[in-house]
Amino acid sequence: MTETTPEDRKRLKARTKLIHAGRRPSEQHGFVNTPIYRGSTVLFPTLDDLSKRNARFSYGTQGTPTTEALETAWTELSGAAGTVLAPTGLAAITLALLAAVKAGDHILVTDSAYRPARIFCDTVLARMGVETTYYDPLVSAGIEALIRPNTSVIFLEAPGSQSLEMQDVPAIAEVARAKGVCTILDNTWATPLFFPPHARGVDMAIEAGTKYLSGHSDLLLGLVSANAQWIKRLRATFDAFAMCAGPEDVFLALRGLRTLDLRLREAERQALDLAHWLASREEVVQVLHPALPSCPGHALWKRDFLGSSGLFSILLAPCSTNALAAMLDGLKLFGMGYSWGGFESLVIPFDCSTYRTATIWSPPGPALRFSIGLEDIEDLKADLDEGFKRLRSVA
Ligand SMILES: *Cc1c(COP(=O)(O)O)cnc(C)c1O
Repeated sequence: MTETTPEDRKRLKARTKLIHAGRRPSEQHGFVNTPIYRGSTVLFPTLDDLSKRNARFSYGTQGTPTTEALETAWTELSGAAGTVLAPTGLAAITLALLAAVKAGDHILVTDSAYRPARIFCDTVLARMGVETTYYDPLVSAGIEALIRPNTSVIFLEAPGSQSLEMQDVPAIAEVARAKGVCTILDNTWATPLFFPPHARGVDMAIEAGTKYLSGHSDLLLGLVSANAQWIKRLRATFDAFAMCAGPEDVFLALRGLRTLDLRLREAERQALDLAHWLASREEVVQVLHPALPSCPGHALWKRDFLGSSGLFSILLAPCSTNALAAMLDGLKLFGMGYSWGGFESLVIPFDCSTYRTATIWSPPGPALRFSIGLEDIEDLKADLDEGFKRLRSVA
């Protein structure tokens, strides 16, 4: 057998890339997977090698064969010029932002952004003299009117991971490019399998590897892929922080990578089934799932995305907190907790009204976010059906 080269893999479909990218059995005595390299010190055989630093690896903070394997695979999958790893998804966001801003800058952040990203902007970036304006996620090319001479970044998330508003990423990226503004997209929901970020015009793309890449709720990891224009600055910023991901987490992410396509497509199938079922329930006022034609972002999703993942939300008809608690507290199969993208189904109530500033969030009743896992869908429906019965039985 002959190993695939990066050139070979360019011609392969994404599914096949997932299997072959970032693996070099010939360097691992034939073993299929790259093992966990742990290490700080790397030894140089001669003074000449040391002074030229001409080794593939030179010190633990700058990468190991394990981190290189995941970076290479993610770069190829994303259609990027390069990737850096960070210890968490949030760290990946802050790293990308810090690579692109300087004191005195202004940045535009979607009102639907992952909330801890907002906190970073409002505290750390604000202290550094970077001003943030939040914008309506539905702004599209109208973003141009918000760009100031000192605007350096437009931060996007499509769809928003609670409210599921879809963004017109190509339109915003085109305006940004014309104005010399860097675009950073939180692509965690779609992953590069369902939204190829750089082909759609984005400069840097974030993936919280904690979610679907892990797939098993057992690790924390972030990835930032960048195009040719931004990779050097991103890598230099990473080096300045040495914000390294843990070797074990990187190894587990490599394991998750091999089945990402399979798991994502099953999550998609299950979530669509459940979303349609929920849409027919009288307790549910609206299902927020971009792949449903009734969802406002559907046209954009259909135009730009190659699939939908297992995360979506619903708006319930008005009910008391006691009734909602009766429904959620008694669920046997849906866990209640943060994060998503694992093998197990989750549900969590959310309320964006407490922190949004550019848009108004006022649903008629409680809002619930679901992450659909790999259980049998009929069991999940039965668990929710019982939950809705409890909801209706409490005043
Ligand atoms: C979870 C999440 C993150 C952050 O990932 P962590 O690894 O938990 O820090 C970022 N963006 C989105 C959309 C997320 O859902």
